[in-house]
Amino acid sequence: PYILAIESSCDDTAAAVMQGPKVLSNCRASQSVHEAYGGVVPELASRAHQAHIVPVVQAALKEAGIVQEQLSAVAFTRGPGLMGALLVGVSFAKGLALALDIPLIAVNHVQAHVMAHLIDAPQPKFPFLCLTVSGGHTQIVEVRAPLSMNILGESIDDAAGEAFDKIGKILGLGYPAGPKIDQLAKEGRAIYQFTEPRVEGLNFSFSGLKTNVLQFIQKKLRENPQFLEEEQINLVASVQQRIVSILMNKLKKAVKQTGIKEVAIAGGVSANSALRQALAEAGQKMGWATYIPDFQYCTDNAGMIGITAYYQYLAGDFVQQDTVPLARWSY
Ligand code: ATP
Ligand code: FE
Repeated sequence: PYILAIESSCDDTAAAVMQGPKVLSNCRASQSVHEAYGGVVPELASRAHQAHIVPVVQAALKEAGIVQEQLSAVAFTRGPGLMGALLVGVSFAKGLALALDIPLIAVNHVQAHVMAHLIDAPQPKFPFLCLTVSGGHTQIVEVRAPLSMNILGESIDDAAGEAFDKIGKILGLGYPAGPKIDQLAKEGRAIYQFTEPRVEGLNFSFSGLKTNVLQFIQKKLRENPQFLEEEQINLVASVQQRIVSILMNKLKKAVKQTGIKEVAIAGGVSANSALRQALAEAGQKMGWATYIPDFQYCTDNAGMIGITAYYQYLAGDFVQQDTVPLARWSY
């Protein structure tokens, strides 16, 4: 079957065409309007989605080399995400499905980040563990089969990506700060020790780190007003190292607890080079098989919605025209 998948949960308008489990096209229009505001402005995101969705879908169909009449189903991100942003994708998908008289598939965005591992080879063997690290979520999940996932632990406050972005803002970097921190940290040395939070089980906490960094900088600035400029790169490297160690320590704990040595990472923060390196090193040392999605499937994309939709299609998991988006939606 050919399935069109649409993603519009945050600030990327994306469309992909699937042929079975194969991604034929994976198109995206990013939104630069938010940079000036230091974060995503929901109203502006909705307007940009509305402007981008038709051209992005057309580009995806063209790149796949098919016409819309060949589609067997239309999939969309139902949530979680910004309500006004989701509404654009959901409404577009409903209209197209109605016009073509084909079924609709509602996909969970966070589950889709994990499902990105089923797009290309090599794929993890079931059951596998996945550390999902994105702008809104930090979870360790046990994946028993496609679409069958059990959340073993998650953040009790900020997500890992949110920590990168919020601390980056304190350090004078723009939005999103994650990729910039990744770049800058390569030049710096992790000489500052920020405390690792104590959180029970496989849960995470990142809001304490943010406060820790803020207070440390305020104290240093009183001694040296130039501290931030002089030490920005070492601060960035230190923050990144701490975030990565928090993530890796819990992941090691999860492997110990479950005995599962097939270990994957997913979501926007899985694009982080220090995290990728730490995972590869841990894998070598502990005998894990490790998996990282192709770069284009780490941050938000429609290919991951498409692969999830493909498995839902096989399971006959369709929704009706009265389906509404969900700003919060745990799978
Ligand atoms: P969610 O998927 O939880 O709804 P989201 O869709 O906004 O949230 P993603 O697009 O998966 O999140 O990821 C975006 C996050 O990834 C941002 O916080 C961004 O800073 C972070 N990020 C992207 N690249 C990197 C990188 N190289 N290093 C660190 N963080 C990164
Ligand atoms: Fe995402």
